[in-house]
Amino acid sequence: MLIDSRRGSWFFIGLLLTTAKLEPDGPSTGFCGSCTKCIDACPTGAIVHEQGRWQIDARRCISYQTIEHKGPLEVDTHGWTFGCDVCQEVCPFNETREAQPVRAAQTVESDFAPRTWPNLQELAQIDEVRWDELTRGSPVRRTGLEGLRRNALANLQASVDGAAGGGAGVAGAGGSGVDAGASGVAGLDV
Ligand code: SF4
Ligand code: SF4
Repeated sequence: MLIDSRRGSWFFIGLLLTTAKLEPDGPSTGFCGSCTKCIDACPTGAIVHEQGRWQIDARRCISYQTIEHKGPLEVDTHGWTFGCDVCQEVCPFNETREAQPVRAAQTVESDFAPRTWPNLQELAQIDEVRWDELTRGSPVRRTGLEGLRRNALANLQASVDGAAGGGAGVAGAGGSGVDAGASGVAGLDV
């Protein structure tokens, strides 16, 4: 996660190739202090202190598992079908504060506008044509057809198991939580 102490953390990290001579800016200032909100809120305990520093264990991170990871899921996705932004949602650096008035502006790019997604049953068996149509121009495409089916199926199964076990249900955004985080389409209920 990249945090700019003036703008928060809702960023895509990109790369620009240029021959221009650029002056590097200084290191970021402002630290976490005694805050532990992201550590406490992470549903899978993925933010860990190892080898003398805090880091995210990607193997436990729902974002990594539901987007980048290939093969069977290795964590309970807690209802998230694509990504998870819990650690960013709770981070004070993302709050508008008088002391930190410069916030990242919300994008107006149409590809990042909220979309309506099918329910989990449909997503779990979505065919290639429908997947292509639904995800064109969306970060959700990153998980691939098989990944989206896998994630939806896992949450569908969890909701069935939850209901059978006394209604524990599915946590997360709207019961199925497709979330594309920094893109501006966070928290889509499907
Ligand atoms: S994205 Fe979700 S699972 Fe990953 S570290 Fe943040 S809160 Fe934890
Ligand atoms: S929630 Fe934000 S400020 Fe708090 S510990 Fe996590 S990254 Fe630091």
